[in-house]
Amino acid sequence: MNKKDYYEVLGVQKNATQDEIKSAFRKLAKKYHPDVNKEPGAEEKFKEIGEAYAVLSDENKRRQYDQFGHAAFEQGSGSYGGFDPGDIDLNDILRSVFGGGFGGDFSSSFSSFSDFFGGGGSSSSRARKGRDTLVRLDLTFEEAAFGLDKDIELTLNDTCSECHGKGGFGEKKCDYCGGHGYVVTEQRSIFGIVQSRNTCPKCDGSGKSFDRVCSKCKGTGQTKSKKTISIHIPEGVDTGHQLRISGKGEAGVNGGSNGDIYFEIHVAKSPFYERDGEDVTVHVPITITDAVLGCKKEVPTIYGNVMMEIKAGCQSGTKYKLKGKGLKVPNSSRKGDEYVVVDVMIPTKLTREQKKLFESLEDTDLKTNSEFKDYQKYL
Ligand SMILES: [Zn+2]
Ligand SMILES: [Zn+2]
Repeated sequence: MNKKDYYEVLGVQKNATQDEIKSAFRKLAKKYHPDVNKEPGAEEKFKEIGEAYAVLSDENKRRQYDQFGHAAFEQGSGSYGGFDPGDIDLNDILRSVFGGGFGGDFSSSFSSFSDFFGGGGSSSSRARKGRDTLVRLDLTFEEAAFGLDKDIELTLNDTCSECHGKGGFGEKKCDYCGGHGYVVTEQRSIFGIVQSRNTCPKCDGSGKSFDRVCSKCKGTGQTKSKKTISIHIPEGVDTGHQLRISGKGEAGVNGGSNGDIYFEIHVAKSPFYERDGEDVTVHVPITITDAVLGCKKEVPTIYGNVMMEIKAGCQSGTKYKLKGKGLKVPNSSRKGDEYVVVDVMIPTKLTREQKKLFESLEDTDLKTNSEFKDYQKYL
């Protein structure tokens, strides 16, 4: 599917501030609100705006989108960067953007929205996907560099084994709402008269009641249970990356699918390597004579030590590049590079003999060497 650029959808610049994004969304949401705009294509447009806003208003998702484009949110088990646009709750978004600003009018039209986007029926008896779970995952520098398989134990809401998620036994229609799960009221709003459905206060929207409420889950249909999730962490992950394990999260409601688990990765700093994305930098100290005369030096890489030739006359701060010795780019065959920065150590404590040698070197007047010729003009 060819998706439009989220920035284009909202008509904002790539560097738009959160205020600009919010204000653009407000304008468009009012214009394409399905209760006001009955033109064909308005619904689609409204969903599109909601999706763009859901991503761009979340700094984390926005960063992933800027980096990977729509590919950042592609579906699939263990997909990288995970986020499913289909999970967006437009009601939540509208509520957070418009808040109480439109009072009861706006919020009363939410229920028709949710029916609209959720496929009809009363809001609480409809199958709903389980909630997504976000888990912080701490990795060492090496674990992140080389990837690993890990089993992680989580406590998640699971379908109650006693009532199989129904919440009770001897199911019957709620007598207050006649099994609809909602009661209909009409209200005047900025969009004209809006028929709104409010969740039935007696059955809380389920449309049903029970002869006996399940004691194990207290009628919720769900109980907490421990689950072990096996995940594969690809080589080269970095802080801020997310791994999505789809369908292994909290149990859905009324037969809805399970939620997803997002592992948010935090990588510990290495005492040795400075990491910048897939590239690493390592500082290697050399003696003043190694710098002047040149040398062969064993330098560390994450794949083991390598011999590196340092040319005679090497200046402190010289940067050598070891191609392909950086980290792997996750889920690709590309590798970063290692940079070796040479630090020439000027000795601060000399033996008597070393001091004598430096003094005799001084007698040769190093300042007459060619690299000082520009300086000599001023002497
Ligand atoms: Zn139960
Ligand atoms: Zn009811």
